[in-house]
Amino acid sequence: MELSAQQWMGVLLLTWYFAVGFGITVAYHRVLTHRSANLRKPLLYALVLAALPAGPPAEWVGNHRLHHTDSDGPNDPHSPLNDGFWYAHCGWYLGIRNRGLCLVYALGGPLRYIVDMFLRPMSPGGHDALAKDVLDDRFLRFLSTRFGFLIGSSFQMLPFLLAYHLMAWDGVIIAWVASVLYYNAGDAVNSVGHLWGKQDFDGAGEARNNRFVALVSLGEGWHAGHHAFPRSARHGLLKGQVDLSYLLLRIFASVGLASDLYLPGDEAISQRRHR
Ligand SMILES: [Zn+2]
Ligand SMILES: [Zn+2]
Repeated sequence: MELSAQQWMGVLLLTWYFAVGFGITVAYHRVLTHRSANLRKPLLYALVLAALPAGPPAEWVGNHRLHHTDSDGPNDPHSPLNDGFWYAHCGWYLGIRNRGLCLVYALGGPLRYIVDMFLRPMSPGGHDALAKDVLDDRFLRFLSTRFGFLIGSSFQMLPFLLAYHLMAWDGVIIAWVASVLYYNAGDAVNSVGHLWGKQDFDGAGEARNNRFVALVSLGEGWHAGHHAFPRSARHGLLKGQVDLSYLLLRIFASVGLASDLYLPGDEAISQRRHR
């Protein structure tokens, strides 16, 4: 069966979404930040390269560890309770609070990447001191420098080149719209994930379990579960909470690409559960 250009475009958009998405959720978040599991190095590096639209690895990990240290407190880099929805959603990357500017940035798609590269504080700096273990790895340290980030980011042109090859400028416009959606799906974890949804656990602060965010962010929307048990490889800890990132870690573990998946005990989960 021959696939049409439109069908190939669909394959491209889905592959791109899962590559960047799992790069961030599995490699940056669960493996590098929280050490919820180990991944074989080549796989980890490939996922980190895919995750670069979210920023250099040391910067991402440092910021995120700070978020957990002082969630919705004065040092939280992105708290919608302290700084408003738009700042927590995307304004914090550039330190902009003007809602209109935040909206323009949120709709920037690939242009956002270029703006980020020059205006966003890139490593070394920021909270890299909280990511010393990431900087101990030579490749991750290289990707965390501005030059390394620029070189690694060249891979991110591939979806646009392929989209142009498939459907000329129509393809580029479709890829643009898709990238806007992808960016905002990830950003929703920081904004929506601390505002709307169920607070299923004690000790999760203002973090919420939000079914819609979980769906678009490959399981990261089970944010109350995550804040209650930050090291858990599984964020969807309750019945019916589908967590595709955890599922992928399980698949990796079953073929020997992942190991040491950390999970809290059932008793600990039920003790912290809100009734
Ligand atoms: Zn959070
Ligand atoms: Zn986290």
